[in-house]
Amino acid sequence: GQGVAMVTAVAARLAAHRRLLEETLAPFWLTREQLVALQRQMREAMAKGLQGKTSSLRMLPTYVRAIPDGSERGDFLALDLGGTNFRVLLVRLASGGVQITNQIYSIPEYVAQGSGEQLFDHIVDCIVDFQQKQGLSGHSLPLGFTFSFPCRQLGLDQGILLNWTKGFSASDCEGQDVVYLLREAIKRRQAVKLNVVAIVNDTVGTMMSCGYENPHCEVGLIVGTGTNACYMEELRNVASVPGDSGHMCINMEWGAFGDDGSLGMLSTYFDERVDQASINPGRQRFEKMISGMYLGEIVRHILLHLTSRGVLFRGQQIQCLQTRDIFKTKFLSQIESDSLALRQVRAILEDLGLPLTSDDALMVLEVCQAVSRRAAQLCGAGVAAVVEKIRENRGLEKLTVSVGVDGTLYKLHPHFSRLVEETVQELAPCCEVTFLQSKDGSGKGAALVTAVACRLAQMTRV
Ligand code: BGC
Ligand code: MG
Repeated sequence: GQGVAMVTAVAARLAAHRRLLEETLAPFWLTREQLVALQRQMREAMAKGLQGKTSSLRMLPTYVRAIPDGSERGDFLALDLGGTNFRVLLVRLASGGVQITNQIYSIPEYVAQGSGEQLFDHIVDCIVDFQQKQGLSGHSLPLGFTFSFPCRQLGLDQGILLNWTKGFSASDCEGQDVVYLLREAIKRRQAVKLNVVAIVNDTVGTMMSCGYENPHCEVGLIVGTGTNACYMEELRNVASVPGDSGHMCINMEWGAFGDDGSLGMLSTYFDERVDQASINPGRQRFEKMISGMYLGEIVRHILLHLTSRGVLFRGQQIQCLQTRDIFKTKFLSQIESDSLALRQVRAILEDLGLPLTSDDALMVLEVCQAVSRRAAQLCGAGVAAVVEKIRENRGLEKLTVSVGVDGTLYKLHPHFSRLVEETVQELAPCCEVTFLQSKDGSGKGAALVTAVACRLAQMTRV
C-alpha cells in the first residue's frame, strides 16, 4: 500500500543522491594513466626550467651545493616565515646535538596583506622581543632566514622575491631583495644589530636538516599551507649557474606547476572556483589542488554544490557554508581519522553549524577522502618525477634516496603520507625512496645553511 510506495520513493531518492555524489566526485579519481602523464609533464617542465626556457617550473638555483656533513657548529638565529606560524628561533649546533629554542609570533592578516615596510618592521620587532626574552640583546648572531616564497637567488644571502604566494600580498616587495628589505628594517630600528647571512626556502631547510643525519637525503618536500619540493641537481644541467662539476640544490617551486594551463585536464569546476576566489587567480594551480590552504576550500565548494542539488542537508541552503575558509583543512584530517566513528564526524560538522543526518556525515566523509586522496596522488606523481630525474642524472639502474618532509598536512593527515608513498612506488619502481619527517626542519635547516655560509665567508676572507 502507501507505506511501500513511500519506502520505494525514499530508496529512489537516496539512490539518486548517491549517483549525484559519485558523478560529482568522479573527476577526483585519477587513473594510473593520468598520473603517468602528469609525471611526464612534470619532467618536461623541469627540463625546460633548468635550461632557462619558458616553463611553469622555475627551477631556481639556491646556491646550496652540498648537504651538510654533520660537522657544522655554532649558535644561530633563524626566522621562519611563510608557513602556518611565523617563528623566531635560536639554534645551537653542538657536538652533543642540536638544541632549539623558538617562539611563535602571529602575523595578522592586515600585516601580511599591508605594506612591505610594515611587514618587515613587524618581523624585526619580533626578533627584538625574542632577543630580549632569551637574553641575547646586543649579540649579533648570524641569522638565517627561512623565507618560504619563490626567490631568484644570486648567492646565499640574496633573494629577489618573484611573487607572493599563499595568503601574503604585502606591497612593494615583489621584485625586491628580501635580505635588503630585512636589513633596511633593521636600520629603521636603530638600536639592533643583526647579521643576515643566508636566505633559505623551507624545502631546502627541510632537506638540509634531514641530511644532517642521513647522507641519502637529497630531496626536500613541503606539504603544509603551501607545497613545494627541492632536490640536488647536477650543476652541468643548470643553465643559469656557471660550472660543470658538482651539484646544486634546485628549488622547483612546483606549486606553480600548470600555471601555463597544462593542468587543465585535471582541474575540476571546484578547482576553478577556489582559484578564482583566491588572492592570486591563475597562479599556484598545482598548489591549490594539494596544499592545506586550499583543500578545505575545495571541500566547501563541493558541499555547496551538493546542497544546491538537494543531495546534502535536505537541500537547505546553509548560511555558514557560504563563509570562505570555514572548512579548515584540519577538519579533513579529523574527519578522515580511522578512530572516529561517524557519530563523531557528525559532532565535528555540527560544531561548524551544519545540521546533518548520518547520510550527510557519510557523504561529507567521502568528499574529504576524494579531495585529500587526489592531493596525495598528485604530490606522489611529482616526487616520482624528481627521484626518476636524479636516477637518470646518475645513470643508475637503482637509486636509493631519502626525502626530507615537513608540513602540517603531510604530518597530521591520517592517510596522506601513505598515499604519497604508494604513488611514488608505483610510478618510480626503480627508486627506493624513504621519507623522513623533519623535526623543526626550517629552523635547523636555516642554521645549517648559515653555518656553511659563514664558513665560506671566512674562507674567502683569508
Ligand atoms: C612557496 C614555496 C614554499 C611552499 C611551501 C609555496 O607557496 O611558493 O616557496 O616552499 O609554498 O611552504
Ligand atoms: Mg613551515
